[in-house]
Order: sequence, then structure tokens, then C-alpha cells
Amino acid sequence: MTGPGPANHGPYIVGLRLAGRRVVVVGGGAVAARRVAGLLDAGAAVELVSPHTTPALDALAAAGRITWHARAYRAGDLDGAWYAVAATNDPAVNGAVAEEAEATRVFCSRADDAATSTVWTPAVGRHAGVEVAILSPGVMQGGDPRRSQRVRDAVVEGLRQGTLNAPRYRDRPAGVALVGGGPGDADLVTVRGRRLLAEADVVVADHLAPQSLLDELAADVELVDASKIPYGRAMAQAEIHRILVERAKAGKFVVRLKGGDPYVFGRGYEELLACAEAGIPVTVVPGVTSAIAVPELAGIPVTHRGVAHEFTVVSGHIPPDHPDSLVDWAALARMRGTLVLLMAVERLGPIAAALLAHGKDPATPVAVVQDGSTPGQRTVHSTLARAAEDVAAAGVRPPAIVVLGPVVALAERDGEAPPPSPGP
Ligand code: SAH
Repeated sequence: MTGPGPANHGPYIVGLRLAGRRVVVVGGGAVAARRVAGLLDAGAAVELVSPHTTPALDALAAAGRITWHARAYRAGDLDGAWYAVAATNDPAVNGAVAEEAEATRVFCSRADDAATSTVWTPAVGRHAGVEVAILSPGVMQGGDPRRSQRVRDAVVEGLRQGTLNAPRYRDRPAGVALVGGGPGDADLVTVRGRRLLAEADVVVADHLAPQSLLDELAADVELVDASKIPYGRAMAQAEIHRILVERAKAGKFVVRLKGGDPYVFGRGYEELLACAEAGIPVTVVPGVTSAIAVPELAGIPVTHRGVAHEFTVVSGHIPPDHPDSLVDWAALARMRGTLVLLMAVERLGPIAAALLAHGKDPATPVAVVQDGSTPGQRTVHSTLARAAEDVAAAGVRPPAIVVLGPVVALAERDGEAPPPSPGP
């Protein structure tokens, strides 16, 4: 008899450890591609049998990550296999593969017919060292894969958000994680950043970090608002270092949540050095920087083929004529590409004057985008000659990004990408 036997038994659930083991996948379509991805994650030695494949499978074969036999299945293909997948679009071929598998005692997942398959492939999800595998047998043993996927999504999301409380007992993260929070919308933080945030004992957050992520924190998480730390700038930074080191030394896992990317004008590296000096391990999680994302969300690409082949991100924090300025404004004025200025709205007058004095075209298009990625996002379009005046008249306030260069004209011509919700 072919198949798994009487239909009233559920499966016996295990995790196959396939590293280095021969696994034969018959079929080269989308289902096969998905299975192959999972098998490769498990380290399996995948042999693909199919006359045609998807471009993704083709690329894996070209890169030597799988072996592709570009022909139809024939009996004997499962020789030496530990596991097989029958995923062609021809039930007769899948049936033949399943039969060979049965005869040679190889477990075989038959994609087109759960009822006769000796293997059911669960909906799998991963989060923070946990692997979730969901099966919904029943429905006359045909299963209910969509329900499995929903349960998997709910479990993974619950773990991610911390609403499903399952603390780690081993391998808890320690030390400090410098997490880039993205430009402001909670959806634009990385998955890794969000996961670490859900595991934090202490969160030290900036005012530019996505505030709604902080609302999700469990009640017992200590939240330190770094933007409210008193003292002058330098002292406040020293105080942040002190808090990071002290909490981490007390055995707490500390997440330092910053706006954008931690290393883009975020003093992240200073914090890393302070922790390193105190012997505290630091993980750095990159973030989506506002320097690129905020223009993007306003419909402005920082590069565009044939228009701008360079972009430069500059801090406008120190005025051009200040002795501490490290910026070569003359060189920036000569650039043909895109100039992105952070922390510059309040000093736009002297900055524009410096660029003009060094020969930048007064007609250079300028856009200023305030509160990017938030419901209050708005853009003011202008030119280099008029930007300071227009920005003042429009009452633009920080945080805002100034973008200069020919790419700005693309957005003017094509209209803005709609902001997350209409701004004023
Ligand atoms: N590390 C951050 C930048 C910190 S400097 C990053 O990578 O994005 C702070 C400046 O970033 C602000 O003055 C402003 O110029 C810019 N900025 C940050 N978030 C912004 C946002 N949502 N909208 C507009 N500008 C933003």
C-alpha cells in the first residue's frame, strides 16, 4: 500500500536534522523553491530533479548551493536519499516519486496530496532562538495549512511583541544593544531591533526614537528618557554612558534605542566606546537612517540613474563659519549629486550662503521634509536661493531633512509619494 495508512492517526512530530544529508526535491516551481529554501537553511545537500526551474532555483544551482539535474524524474532518483519532496505539477509524477519513496522507506512530502503524503510540512516561524512548527491535521487528513499559517503568525508576532510571554532561560542577551529605531514610524524598525526591545530590562530612549515602540514595553521594564536627562550636552552624554554601564553591570539587558541609525550623527560610537571601556559587551543593530528614508518617503530618491550618482550626508549642526566645522563646504558646492543635510533647518541661512559663496547654482532645487514617516510629515519645496526664507515662512521645525540637488526636481515633477496620513 502506498501512503501513510489509516486516516485517523495524527502525525508524530519531530525535527529532522538534515545537515549534509542528501535530500531529493522533484519539481522546479514555486513550491519546490520554497521547500529548497527551508532545506538549505537546515544545511541539507539538496538535489533538484526537474526539466525547468524558477530563476531563484537556477541561481542556487549556478552558485553551487544545490545540484540540479535538468531532466524529468526517473525511478532510482531517490537512491541514498534521507528525505524527498515531490512537488511537480503532475500528480502522476508525484505519485511515482511517493511510491519509490514508500518502497525505499524514505519519508516523502507530497505537495499535491496531503492525504497520501508520508510527511506533513508544518508552517514554521522563528523568533529569538525559538522555532515554531504548526500543523493542523484534520479536515479529513487533508489538513488546514492556512489555519496553520495563521497560528504560526500569531505565535511569532506574540513572541516578537512580547505579548506572548516566554522568557529565555538560557542565553539571555546581556550587556547593551545600541538599536537604530528608524525615522519614527514604529513599522520601520528592524526585526532584530524589535526582538531585542522585547527582551530588554532597561530601555534608554531618545526623543527621535519611535515613541509607539515604547508604549509596547512591559510594565516592569525600566524606561529612561535620555532626552530629559538634565545637564549640558556633554554632561548629559556622560550621564547616558553612566546609566548604560551601571545597569548592564547590575545584570540588566539594556537597549539603547536611538532614532535612525545609531552611527549616523547619533553618538552611537561614543556609547560603544564607553561600554567597551567598562568591559560591557555591546551589540549594534543598524537602523533605517532618516538621511535616506525621509527624502524617500517624500518621493525623493537620493540617487537616480542619469541624474545623481553620488549623495553626501552632512551635519548642519555646526555653522559653516564656525572654527569647529569639519565640513568642506567648498567641496560640497562643487558636487553634482545629492546633498542631504541633517540638523540644518535652524542654520539654513548661513548654510545656503556658504554654498552660494562657493559657486553653487542658486536655482538648485531644495526640499525640506519635516517629521518624516510620522502622521505630521510635510515637505516644503524651494530653491537654494530662497530656501531659508521659504522654510522660515512655512514655520518648518526640527526634526527636518534638507535635500538639495537635481533629484529633488523629480519629486516636484512627479508629485509626492503620499505620506502615511495627510499632513497639514
Ligand atoms: N541617527 C539619526 C540622525 C540623528 S541627528 C538617523 O540616522 O536618522 C537628528 C537629525 O536627524 C534631525 O535634526 C533631522 O535632521 C534628522 N531626522 C531624524 N528623524 C527625522 C524625521 N523623522 N524627519 C525628519 N528629519 C529627521
